[in-house]
Parts: sequence; structure tokens; C-alpha cells
Amino acid sequence: MKKEPFVTKEKIEEIVKEYPTPFHIYDEKGIRENARRLKAAFSWNKGFREYFAVKATPNPYIMEILMEEGCGFDCSSYTELMLSERVGAKGDDIIFSSNATPNEDFLLARKMGVQINFDDFTHIEVLDRLCGIPETICCRYNPGGEFKTSEKGNVMDTPRDAKYGFTHDQIIEGFKILKNKGAKRFGIHAFLASNTLTNEYYPVLAEILFKTVVEIKEKTGVEISFIDLSGGIGIAYRPDQLENDIFEIGKGVEKAYNKILVPAGLGNAAIYTELGRFMLAPYGHLVAKAIREKHIYKEYIGLDACAANLMRPAVYGSYHHITVAGKENAPCDFKYDITGGLCENCDKFAVDRMLPKIETGDYIIIHDTGAHGFSMGYNYNGKLRSAEILLKEDGSFKLIRRAETPTDYFATFDFDEKYRF
Ligand SMILES: *Cc1c(COP(=O)(O)O)cnc(C)c1O
Repeated sequence: MKKEPFVTKEKIEEIVKEYPTPFHIYDEKGIRENARRLKAAFSWNKGFREYFAVKATPNPYIMEILMEEGCGFDCSSYTELMLSERVGAKGDDIIFSSNATPNEDFLLARKMGVQINFDDFTHIEVLDRLCGIPETICCRYNPGGEFKTSEKGNVMDTPRDAKYGFTHDQIIEGFKILKNKGAKRFGIHAFLASNTLTNEYYPVLAEILFKTVVEIKEKTGVEISFIDLSGGIGIAYRPDQLENDIFEIGKGVEKAYNKILVPAGLGNAAIYTELGRFMLAPYGHLVAKAIREKHIYKEYIGLDACAANLMRPAVYGSYHHITVAGKENAPCDFKYDITGGLCENCDKFAVDRMLPKIETGDYIIIHDTGAHGFSMGYNYNGKLRSAEILLKEDGSFKLIRRAETPTDYFATFDFDEKYRF
């Protein structure tokens, strides 16, 4: 499928008059329409709710939009809990899914009355000693082995090598203990593969969880109220990849639900999701400017953005599609490495990419950066984090995070007069 940016060169030229590149920009219209599609795809389930994975795009203005679309938040840390609370989420609007969880985080989660999802069996005892077990509690399941879909030979991931979750025996025992400690409303969670591009991921995962839920009821008497399929639905980063069909995914989960849960008398269980990438990735671009060109053994274009603004290509070798603004329909007959300025050779947004001829001053649009983009940013080489901008439904734009300044970068030395900048 042809990948088209949601901003034009003209719009970028308008924005840079106020906010210079590089910046991340988000498409409100796309975010809302996608959130509505997800909701419609799971409308067969009365209790369905998406808990947006805050770590993907921790910006309160984005979170507000998602909240207006009915989403709650999946938090993984103390600050994400703080942020969600500030946006107006409370109690059941939040799931706290963390691992190697510090005491302070547990205490804040408990104080806020959010739904805590235990990553480990030993955390039951930890939380109980710290502040007692709340009425609502969730456990993360790791079935071990390899995770396969029905497609022959398709191993998606190897849960036995993943650090997350309870083993099968632990989860049975865990729910017994939690029931004895007074918990009343129970959830189960699993996240077995990331960035999946098959409509089968959720249905296969759902089947595993639903069977486990039936087993838990038989062995412990605990009736699970919500089943959290977590994140993992991927997006088509490459133009030649086939997108997921969220309606097919919804139907696949419904089929497993009707086959396994309904006959077991568990037809009231709610389905939760904790999608991050699927909710935001396609609706964000990193917009940068070509500031240098270099002709050595290869042809290089140097941008004013670098891996500190988007680390996925440097860390995972991930493909991010690139459009040269204003040259959308020009032939791609030049081969470039598109780089940032970090002193690391992996700081390349694209390697041997065929693109239209690039002049310095051209705006370079890097696609699918709306999730795990800005949020994974860092300050290596003294690079500052960029601004974030929201392209609103009416076509106007709004600053939703200002760019860092040197003062922000040096702020953590402010205890000493000598190094206050
Ligand atoms: C990262 C994460 C998510 C979101 O994952 P995506 O791949 O962005 O959908 C959801 N839940 C948990 C517990 C996570 O760690």
C-alpha cells in the first residue's frame, strides 16, 4: 500500500515559522478514527475497553483525545501513573502493568485505586505486606514454550525466554491465594508477541487465555471478570506489508469467546486491550530538515534530527518509510543513507534508500513514529528532545510539548550554583 504523509509541504512551511524542525507531529483525525474502529470491532463485548499503553506516547494532550474516545490507560511506572491521574483518569480507568516493580510504584498504584496487574507470583506477598491486596487484582500469564499461530511453522515468539508473567502452576496457585486474601474481582493478562502482522495473533492468544480462565474456575472457583489481551498488534511500517484488519481480529476473538467462555458460563467476562503501537504509530511523523549532503563512498544526507529523536532504526534496524515533502510523486532514482549527527554509525534513519533527489533545505518526513518514537528519545551527544505538535481535525496545529533547551539539559546540576546555566 502506498504510504502517504498526513502533512503537506505547505503545512510544514507554515508550522516551521513558529516551531523549527525537528518535531514530532500527530494527526488527531487519524487517531480518533482508528480508536473508533477498534471500539466498533469489539462492540460485541459489553465490557470491552482499550487501555492505551502510555509508554508509547506519554503526552497528556494525546491521552486526552484517547480518553474522549473512551480509552483508559495502561501505566508501567510511577510517572505514568502521575500523568494519567493529571489527565483525569482514576481507579478502573487505569491498569498498572509493570515488572520488577518498586515499592513506591505499588504504593502509588494502590493509593490511586487502579487495577494492579501482577507480573510475578512473589509480588502477591510483597504487595500484601506493603499495603494489602485490593479487591480488584490481575495476574500476568506466561504459558512458556513457543507461541505459534495456526499458520504452519509460524513461531511468533518464545515466551519461555521472556522475563514476564506467572507460570501455569503459579497462576492457578496465585488466584487461590488472592481469593483467600479477600480479592473479589479478578483479571488475567498476557502479552506474547510484539508488532504482529497477522489477524491471528489476538484470536490465538485469546484462546490460550480463555482456556486458562476456564481451568482457573474449575480448580480454584475464581471467576475471571476481565481478560486483558494487552498490546502487540502491529502496523505495516513497509509499503509492501499488509495491514491488520481490526474487524477480522475482533471477530476472531469473538469466535473463541463463544466457543470457550460462553459454554463455561463465563459469558460476562470483559475483554481489555492495551494497545500502544496500533493506536498511535501511523498517526505520528518525525519531520526533519536535510541540512547537509556528503559524497564519499556512499551518498549521505544529514538531518537536523538523529537517533535521539527516534531510536528504532538504530536499535532494531527498523524500517521507517520516508517521504521528501513536496516530492511525493517524483521518481525515486537516487540512493541515499539518511543520517542523524550522533557519533554512532548506527545513527541512520535509512540505508541505501531509493528517494527523489534531495536538496539541502528539503523537509524529510519519517513515517510511523507516533508510538515508541518520541518516548524512546534520549539525550546522548547532548542532543535535545524535540517539540511535539498536534495537527488538529480542523487543520490547525498546536504545540503539545515544547522542544528542550540547554537549560533543561543542564537542569539536574542545579544543586550547585557553579553549574547553574
Ligand atoms: C509495551 C506494552 C504494551 C503496548 O505494546 P504495543 O506493542 O505498543 O501495542 C501493552 N502492555 C504492556 C504491559 C506493555 O509493556
